Amino acid sequence: MESPLPKPVANGDSLPYWNGARAQKLLIRKCQDCGELHFMPRLLCPTCWSENLEWVEAKGKGTIHSFTVIRRASSADFASQVPYVVALIDLEEGPRMLTNILGKDALSTSIGDSVQVTFEDRGDGSMVPQFSRVLPEGAI
Ligand SMILES: [Zn+2]
Repeated sequence: MESPLPKPVANGDSLPYWNGARAQKLLIRKCQDCGELHFMPRLLCPTCWSENLEWVEAKGKGTIHSFTVIRRASSADFASQVPYVVALIDLEEGPRMLTNILGKDALSTSIGDSVQVTFEDRGDGSMVPQFSRVLPEGAI
């Protein structure tokens, strides 16, 4: 069944990111002048304003910095998803990302939880990098 959720709309700065997602790779940008890694994709390094950037593949691991539970959808597209979790996660590489937390246990999300990237199929090959909780071994 086709996903009712919106598909990504790529622009010149984000097209490689979305193409990476289609291949189930989480790509972030690295500044070749100052070495800073950043997200979201953009033309300039947010630290030193250099245009000398490259794409690198992130490991897709991080921790929950903060989160909220959405109980009333902001648009009809997301009405079937409520309640769902929107979170800020800190990648192991450093950048902070805004994402949804997916999975049956998503509503049990806590600050500091470990998360792992997963790719949400939006149809037509479109994938959206999202995250799911990774419970420590032995946790129920
Ligand atoms: Zn830089």
